[in-house]
Amino acid sequence: MEKKISEIFGSMVFNDDVMRERLPKEVYKSLTKTIATGKTIDPTIADVVANAMKDWAVEKGATHYTHWFQPLTGVTAEKHDAFISPVGACKVVMEFSGKELIHGESDASSFPSGGLRATFEARGYTAWDPASYAFVKDGTLYIPTAFCSYTGEALDSKTPLLRSMEALSNQALRILRLFGDTQSKRVDITVGAEQEYFIIDKKMYDRRKDLVYTGRTLFGAPAPKGQELEDHYFGPLKTRIAAFMSDLDEALWIMGINAKTKHNEAAPAQHELAPIYATANIAVDQNLLTMEYMKKIAERHGLVCLLHEKPYAGVNGSGKHNNWSISANGKNLLDPGKTPEENMQFLLILAAIIKAVDDYQELMRISVAHAGNDHRLGANEAPPAIVSVFVGEELESLIDSIVDGTAYKGAKKAMMDLGIPTVPVFRKDTTDRNRTSPFAFTGNKFEFRMPGSSQNIAMPNTVLNTAVAESFRQFADELEQAENLESAIARLIKKTFAAHKRIIFDGNGYSEDWEREAAARGLANLPTTVDAYKTFMDPKNIALFSSHGVMSETEMRSREEIYFENYAKIVNIEALTMIVMASRDYIPAAERYIAEIANSAAKKRIVCEGISCTVEQDIIRRLSDLVAQAYSAIETLKSEESTAASIEDAKERAEYYCTKVLPVMTTLRAAVDGMEVLTSSDLWPVPTYGDMMFRV
Ligand code: ADP
Ligand code: MG
Repeated sequence: MEKKISEIFGSMVFNDDVMRERLPKEVYKSLTKTIATGKTIDPTIADVVANAMKDWAVEKGATHYTHWFQPLTGVTAEKHDAFISPVGACKVVMEFSGKELIHGESDASSFPSGGLRATFEARGYTAWDPASYAFVKDGTLYIPTAFCSYTGEALDSKTPLLRSMEALSNQALRILRLFGDTQSKRVDITVGAEQEYFIIDKKMYDRRKDLVYTGRTLFGAPAPKGQELEDHYFGPLKTRIAAFMSDLDEALWIMGINAKTKHNEAAPAQHELAPIYATANIAVDQNLLTMEYMKKIAERHGLVCLLHEKPYAGVNGSGKHNNWSISANGKNLLDPGKTPEENMQFLLILAAIIKAVDDYQELMRISVAHAGNDHRLGANEAPPAIVSVFVGEELESLIDSIVDGTAYKGAKKAMMDLGIPTVPVFRKDTTDRNRTSPFAFTGNKFEFRMPGSSQNIAMPNTVLNTAVAESFRQFADELEQAENLESAIARLIKKTFAAHKRIIFDGNGYSEDWEREAAARGLANLPTTVDAYKTFMDPKNIALFSSHGVMSETEMRSREEIYFENYAKIVNIEALTMIVMASRDYIPAAERYIAEIANSAAKKRIVCEGISCTVEQDIIRRLSDLVAQAYSAIETLKSEESTAASIEDAKERAEYYCTKVLPVMTTLRAAVDGMEVLTSSDLWPVPTYGDMMFRV
């Protein structure tokens, strides 16, 4: 197996090795320089690269190529063109030109543009991103691209990400120069996204309209068992799951994705996959591919992979821990070293990140805001909707000593001795983990835990990169003028930690105490997507994105519109699905059961005159009550839904769905879940929570 893995790994990727082997030396050098420095590609080499790519892809069985992009729908888009080009009347050759590689034009009228483009100006352009590797999948050569409108505005998630990487690299280099680094040409941003997901049997999935239409269960009484025994977390893999995971690993390895860790997660039927980190834009592409493969390969095993943030109420939801760091010349800049107290460069960078998260906490919250994630953030398991930073005991006491001007004693690494002679003694980590923190320092990287499992992580990384770029810009502006650099750096570190200490929190992020304390500290608490997006167009956010060339005000405004629209659409689909399920499946099932019991009570009386029927009467009464409640909730939901849908303004519409439609959905669900536990299981029309979570 070992040999096989190294042979198949990355075999469908046009990566650095393939480029070196297939491209003329000069072309290879020019292309890698473009990638390494982030500069624009020399158009004269495009034809050569395109031709080499095509020959390679054809050998891998490709007949088509596609520009692959990330429109603001949250999923990827592709349109396949065959390589064929006619020669004379009845012959074709396989061709692919530099022009076709570099840019494509497609009808963009059905992609969300948030008013950036009227449908009569339907042109959209895709532009090759040479820094993300092309690959062959299912007989097509995929070329990762950016996507923009006729007027040049970004219509995708990738363009702002690439711009933010550039911004952060430029500003970080200014900082490195101050510390005497004259070598590094670029600062690399690395990302490793731990992906959580649920698995369900396909036959059960097909019977749940809510899962099919919305990705989450809109109804369902809790099963007798949930996750309270904690017997699923890291538990042994079931055979069927293990087979699925092993196929998934292999598929990802072929695509050059370093799938490394897999395990069962906290909730029943919940799992996780973590890759080895990669440069941010590649990590984003790879995560999107990973999600696609999870779905595809699950189907092959008669399973369905649920990527929704909250498929089931009452058990943990799924997130995507976004591990993030920066490095230069292959050295991780977030590595504190053995004596962080003496590592001024590390402390300055740490201060910059803490400042960035504090200054732009609303944007951090916005970057993970969407309808699905609202069920998770703050819901007693995932990070809360309040953004804070966890640095661990050791760094926190170091920061305290810097701010207070007291001596730092340093945390001695304690030895862990389990008292078993055969088990070697090892050094303990100086800090324990804090699972409740939304943004935690974990040794040599930050782990942003708020992103939802279904989302494209381009936006969270774009915000993080740009906010940190801004801290660096301010620092560099100040320090480049300093007379005594060393003392200026020390003063700046102290000043920054003192000014931004309020964002550091190492307690329990799920507690109500924290909500109160965070309010006292003046931290933003934006519980819903609508609350969060209302702050998106704040002048300081516009200034941030436009000054770093990441997004123009126009691009931001279009995004704001799209996100409000998207939120409203999702809740709308959920409301309509609930109406259909409750009126056509659940109420008829309960009525059938009522009739059955009424019938049996009547028959009992025929056989034994005067016999007590209190049980039947009680069930009928309670069930009828719930049916009446459900019916009335359906009527209210119908009217609220149509009121909501008729609101013209996207922000107001989203707000109405959030404040008026969602509560009625909760009422309807409560009535139906009540009906479920009173109705005979053979009459209940859909698989239950127990069926879905425990019978995989
Ligand atoms: P956990 O958080 O569950 O302990 P790990 O420590 O194994 O998980 O790592 C989580 C993720 O962090 C992995 O995807 C790993 O590749 C990624 N990671 C490790 N170092 C870095 C780094 N320097 N930059 C970005 N991601 C990193
Ligand atoms: Mg983690």
